[in-house]
Amino acid sequence: MKTAKYAVRCSACTGRAVANMHPSGVRGTYREETCHMVAKKIICSSCGCVQVSETADGVPYELWSKANILGNFLWVNNEAHGRALLEWTEGSRERKDFPDSAYYEVLPGWLLNAKHRPLVAKKIREFLG
Ligand SMILES: [Zn+2]
Repeated sequence: MKTAKYAVRCSACTGRAVANMHPSGVRGTYREETCHMVAKKIICSSCGCVQVSETADGVPYELWSKANILGNFLWVNNEAHGRALLEWTEGSRERKDFPDSAYYEVLPGWLLNAKHRPLVAKKIREFLG
């Protein structure tokens, strides 16, 4: 797993901030979304808040794009993640074509269910703006 940038909520102003994420050493899956990447630095361009952590736990963070869909948790780390999920949801991308990332190896059953895909796609489009 490589480093990545996640869209997160600023703990100071609740605006959109960017988190520099680093792997914690444990391979993750879609279902264990926050256990494997830690935020080493969070930078908010709205209020200028910068949080840095040198600990293994990293800076606590809340993803910017998350929603409850039919009692299930949908989350999107960043734009690339959202676009990949959207393409898969709408059928233009095969799972085998996803980037080499654990995010897509295990998708939960409710997300795999074809009848939920239009609702999931609608929410992801809202995330992407
Ligand atoms: Zn802020």
